[in-house]
Amino acid sequence: MSITEQTFIAIKPDGVQRGLVGPIISRFESRGFKLAAIKLVTPGKEHLEKHYDDLKEKAFFPGLIAYMNSGPIVAMVWEGLDAVKTGRSILGATNPLASAPGTIRGDYALSMGRNVCHGSDSVENAKKEIALWFKEGDVVSWKSAQENWVFE
Ligand code: UDP
Ligand code: MG
Repeated sequence: MSITEQTFIAIKPDGVQRGLVGPIISRFESRGFKLAAIKLVTPGKEHLEKHYDDLKEKAFFPGLIAYMNSGPIVAMVWEGLDAVKTGRSILGATNPLASAPGTIRGDYALSMGRNVCHGSDSVENAKKEIALWFKEGDVVSWKSAQENWVFE
């Protein structure tokens, strides 16, 4: 666990269409995480299938790819202490009905196939996802003026 741990967070097409880009970004910013990369993209079916490769045998896979391919996605890298695990806890459970209020899915979503956001589930997968969605130079290394106020 280090303050340079990075996670891949995406605002899915429903989150973008519903005007939740600002509120979702705010939760990561105000928690103390540092934005390291961000872009609005429609990466296409092949890219999305690669992103969800581990789920390709699931019955919901075609629906998931159609959902993810239905509009622009905000792809981001967020950095900070325990970013992967804490990122997942900020998102809430996969099924929004099981997500606690105060989480993104618990506040903004009701169904699994419209759960507004994605977050990496392990440090290893975060590295893979960041490499899939961003080119080397797209991820910015910078010193936040807040750093000494967020970390002791
Ligand atoms: N999903 C779905 N039905 C399911 C399980 C998952 O539609 O029964 C969708 C849901 O949008 C979820 C995504 O597939 O966010 C990826 O599933 P995963 O198990 O990786 O959940 P996550 O890591 O996003 O919480
Ligand atoms: Mg997942």
